[in-house]
Amino acid sequence: MNHGDETRAPAGTASFLRARIEADLREGLYAGRRWAGSPGDAAHHRGAPPDPARVRLRFPPEPNGHLHIGHAKSIGLNFGLAQAFGGACHLRMDDTNPTKEDQAYVDAIVEDVRWLGWDWRAFGVEHLYHASDHFEFMARAAEALIADGLAYVDEQQGEALRAARGDFGQPGTPSVWRDRPAVESLARFREMLDGAHPDGAMVLRALVDMASPNLQMRDPPIYRIRHAAHHRMGTRWRAYPTYIYAHPIEDALENITHSFATLEFAEHRAFYDWLLAHLVRVGLVQAPPPRQFEFGRLNLEHVVTSKRKLKALVDESHVQGWDDPRMPTIRGLRRRGYTAAALRRFVEATGASRHEAWVPYAALEQALRDDLEPSTPRAMGVLDPLMLELTNWREVFGQADTEPCTAPVHPRRPDLGERSFSLGPRLWIDRQDFSLAPDKHFHRLAPGRRVRLKYGVIVECTGCRQASDGAVADVQARIVPGTKSGTPGAGEVKVKGTVTWVGAHEAVAVEWRLFDHLFASARPDDSDCIDFRSQLQPQSRRVLRGYAEPSMARVAAEQHLQIERVGYFVSDRVEHRPDAPVFNRITALREGAQR
Ligand code: ATP
Ligand code: MG
Repeated sequence: MNHGDETRAPAGTASFLRARIEADLREGLYAGRRWAGSPGDAAHHRGAPPDPARVRLRFPPEPNGHLHIGHAKSIGLNFGLAQAFGGACHLRMDDTNPTKEDQAYVDAIVEDVRWLGWDWRAFGVEHLYHASDHFEFMARAAEALIADGLAYVDEQQGEALRAARGDFGQPGTPSVWRDRPAVESLARFREMLDGAHPDGAMVLRALVDMASPNLQMRDPPIYRIRHAAHHRMGTRWRAYPTYIYAHPIEDALENITHSFATLEFAEHRAFYDWLLAHLVRVGLVQAPPPRQFEFGRLNLEHVVTSKRKLKALVDESHVQGWDDPRMPTIRGLRRRGYTAAALRRFVEATGASRHEAWVPYAALEQALRDDLEPSTPRAMGVLDPLMLELTNWREVFGQADTEPCTAPVHPRRPDLGERSFSLGPRLWIDRQDFSLAPDKHFHRLAPGRRVRLKYGVIVECTGCRQASDGAVADVQARIVPGTKSGTPGAGEVKVKGTVTWVGAHEAVAVEWRLFDHLFASARPDDSDCIDFRSQLQPQSRRVLRGYAEPSMARVAAEQHLQIERVGYFVSDRVEHRPDAPVFNRITALREGAQR
């Protein structure tokens, strides 16, 4: 490896996008750009110092919903590459459609990207921008296109407009308004902006090529009338730019060098280049213009990521909100207990390719375990409690009501110290750890069997009491003397199984929330799949009332821990109270373990 080549980013994922950036830096493609300290047109940047950012990338969400795991991919890619190359990554609200956008989403997006650990401050400037800041310029550029015979107001409407576009096998039909004089289009366009016409009455179209095999080049609409208040601009505008027109302009004004888009935008690239080439030619935007490159989106099995579908899950009460722990939104994943580091690790590990990738949910869970395993505190807890009575307590421990025990906070981190709890004659164990009819793989408690109570003693089960319906009411066992963990000779009695427990005398009552996939099928989002709602699992959320060891009393919200043998948990960031603990299970300890 050539360490002297400063354009080389660390090896890793997204190699083809890295290679693109490296090649452009090597050629000095963007070295001549100027940066006036804020986005703007060619005149704004003229005479300013050279852009201190070697590359400028951006993450451009539309504030019409909450960010999800797919966005985390795009965020990781753009902020990560900008960081690797010593550049800047802008956070841009792509707010060109007033009917669906909201300030509350803007605020949530800012919070989520920050929480993920990224920062849009670079070279002393906060690079948080809004597409709507450029509406003035976009209208001016549209007028320039009209003046140059490259845009016209088309008064065809709705279905007629769509039909005239043709389709893959069939060229489009030029509109009767295509050759109208520029002054006429200009007058109509200004009327559109001023609200003189109702929604849908006319559109401004770029004049490109109605016979192009690329449908996006068949005179795409670039402005449409929307009598709707914009969350930032109010009623200042009555016509709004379309995505295909606005996006390249936003990139150009912000000095973006590489505009990374998901594959479905590939057919927009020709218009992106067409538009910016013209705006450069007439001196409206700085040269060289940014360029678009596509990568395959991230699809996670068992979840849907379309904002429309996520919104339906919330609106139709299939989940309890955008931050429901089963939601693949950033706030849902956070509430479930996924850490920002785990999500960053996950999207980094999935790489970027030119193809769409379906990633197994297990990969996300493994990223969490890899993040939490090295330092997360351990505790014992019982999800579904069953009483275990130690019938020979007095014979073994005499008059003492309890027997102290200790355990490491983390088995490989002695620096984290120890936790203390105690045995007593009545303990809680998990119902799953007892069986009246054990098969040969069952190594936990059953009549006549011996197990070690973890960090405690070996016990031998003598029987159980059953309710009239046959359900096990409680279990009895005898302590095997001389087997207390950590005492001399304790290891001499061998047992096959270990059971975790909590002393009934000191148990902390806990509400445990367990989750399964919202969707049973791996690809509920597939286009050929029937209505995604039909794939919903009926029992994806379960609440159990159980107990935990005393070290879990008065835990703050959003604390992670491993319940030994059961999984990774987090105290719920919304409903947990130190005196009324609520814990979410994030994932089991191993793939395929009980859910
Ligand atoms: P939706 O279709 O759910 O509305 P979107 O892609 O339209 O999602 P935007 O807010 O427009 O949502 O997306 C912001 C950025 O995130 C875009 O650059 C988009 O390409 C990217 N993005 C969205 N989903 C994914 C995904 N699953 N994988 C990678 N990038 C994604
Ligand atoms: Mg979108």
